Amino acid sequence: MPIDPDFPKNHQVIGKHSIDDEHYHYVWGPGRAAEATENEEVKAAFAARGEQQVPLGVHGTMVAIDWDSCVADGACIEACPVQVFQWYRTEQDEPPQQMVNATSVGTGSTVKEERKDYTDKADPIREHDCIWCMACVSVCPPQAVKVDQSSLEFHEKAAGTFNEALSKGSAPPPHAH
Ligand code: SF4
Repeated sequence: MPIDPDFPKNHQVIGKHSIDDEHYHYVWGPGRAAEATENEEVKAAFAARGEQQVPLGVHGTMVAIDWDSCVADGACIEACPVQVFQWYRTEQDEPPQQMVNATSVGTGSTVKEERKDYTDKADPIREHDCIWCMACVSVCPPQAVKVDQSSLEFHEKAAGTFNEALSKGSAPPPHAH
């Protein structure tokens, strides 16, 4: 089950994953049972850790990864020319549901084969650095990735900074002096 292309409309913000006050991505939920709950490598890796698989939701908005679909393949991480993604567990080795509201530094691995194990997830920790090349989208086996520059609107709405008038080009012109 690929990522829901309308996730910003069909889901709500359930968390905020930050680097600092200015750099963060939202997490959209609720999550669901998808590829990760059916994938044998992922199931075995969670069992080996004694961690339960729970619905996780979608990390990111303009560069969005459905963590319930993500099977830790890492093709997106390898494809990205500007290191938008990191393996989150290589920075903070916590159960993935704890990353719904977390602060990361961004020091996690950006190398495909350096996933901690198959419980790891590709985290779009630097989604604001995306150059919209779309390389990550087509390489993902379960189609867990959606990249859409226009989804900035949903990010900004969520941030409370979305300016409806400016977005429609209907804002009054600045005063001339
Ligand atoms: S669209 Fe390109 S730049 Fe953006 S996250 Fe994907 S691979 Fe990286």
